[in-house]
Amino acid sequence: MQTEDRFTIIGAGIGGLTAALALKQAGLQPLIYESAPEIKPVGAGILLASNAMQVFDKLGVRGKIENAGCKVSKIRITDAKLTTISESELEKFEQQFGVYNVAIHRADLQKILAEEIGFQNIQLSKRLLNIESGNTLKLIFDYGTSVQSDVVIAADGIKSLVRNKVFNTGTLRDSTQRCWRGVCEIELPTNYNQVAIEAWGKGKRFGFVKISEKKIYWYAVINESLMRKASLGELFQEFHEDVLHIISRTPEDKIFYSEIFDLQPITQWQKGKVCLLGDAAHATTPNMGQGACQAIEDAYTLGKLFQEAKSTEDVFAKYEKLRIKKAHFVVNTSWQIGKIAHYENDFAIWFRNFIVKSIPKSINEKQLQKVFDISYV
Ligand SMILES: Cc1cc2nc3c(=O)[nH]c(=O)nc-3n(C[C@H](O)[C@H](O)[C@H](O)COP(=O)(O)OP(=O)(O)OC[C@H]3O[C@@H](n4cnc5c(N)ncnc54)[C@H](O)[C@@H]3O)c2cc1C
Repeated sequence: MQTEDRFTIIGAGIGGLTAALALKQAGLQPLIYESAPEIKPVGAGILLASNAMQVFDKLGVRGKIENAGCKVSKIRITDAKLTTISESELEKFEQQFGVYNVAIHRADLQKILAEEIGFQNIQLSKRLLNIESGNTLKLIFDYGTSVQSDVVIAADGIKSLVRNKVFNTGTLRDSTQRCWRGVCEIELPTNYNQVAIEAWGKGKRFGFVKISEKKIYWYAVINESLMRKASLGELFQEFHEDVLHIISRTPEDKIFYSEIFDLQPITQWQKGKVCLLGDAAHATTPNMGQGACQAIEDAYTLGKLFQEAKSTEDVFAKYEKLRIKKAHFVVNTSWQIGKIAHYENDFAIWFRNFIVKSIPKSINEKQLQKVFDISYV
């Protein structure tokens, strides 16, 4: 690999920003091109699991992220009335991996990453329209501008233009689940400290976690078939009063709606000197809270391989080989969890809760171990 190669990253989401940081630490000087006029993520929180926090530890930003967010030491699944169905203690993993799981506002996370990379390395209002390959790669942006690049990392999200143009692949799957997210200022009892809760109702669920002393990040997901013209409070009226309180305390203009899609697993993430990263390569439903964590793992893998490698093609081939199995495991498992969490039939719900309650702790821990472990990189 030529260190004077020009490295370009398309997209300044969590994936693109982390990739820039990892490449910078590998001694490279990537430039990010982002279509939006500012780095302004959806006003919601995000759970950064142990695998992501281990990466941030290695990239030297763990402390900043921990300080800006809240530690999460338990993941609790409950019924709609917040009665526990199952609980995973994360303390064992905190000791094993030396990091906490952290819930944080997306804006705070992206600000930390952007500051670390340097704003001069992020070109805003640059929407990529096309990519042409010759001796080098020609990137054509809107308003008739273009640049030449030797290497392109496409972190341009689930609808990736690069994936469509260069790889000519990618089927988006509609989960038929619809989602609202928000952040509200509220003081909840201390028994909610350090716990990420997901309450499963009938074809709907509600999750929430503290992201700072007085701020809660929450999400509400419902089967499309149950959507009707009603307020969110009405749609979730059978849920615990704390859930309804959280919803009612969130200003309506601070609630964001999205339709939940994923990317049917694709088998090729790299071609020559172009590769896909994050949602562009393996967008997943959010049911395991792993979409961004997997993008962060991609970024770390690339950075590490570039530190060791001889050629870009070699790095990209190894990256795909190392990462694809785990990323697809997450996509497929998350898809299944989404279906199970949204049963509408009373007997199916009772039976599901019975099974989830009876699953031995060791099985849950084995699954978490698999997701949190990044020692394969
Ligand atoms: C409801 C919900 C909850 C979630 N919760 C979690 C969670 O708790 N934990 C977790 O790990 N993950 C979670 N995720 C998943 C996570 O949000 C995504 O996986 C992650 O944000 C993907 O990052 P990315 O950088 O790959 O893509 P994106 O965040 O989509 O970023 C892509 C960037 O590229 C830019 N771009 C797109 N096209 C172009 C173009 N042509 N030219 C230039 N720029 C372009 C976009 O403007 C954007 O800034 C959740 C997702 C949803 C929907």
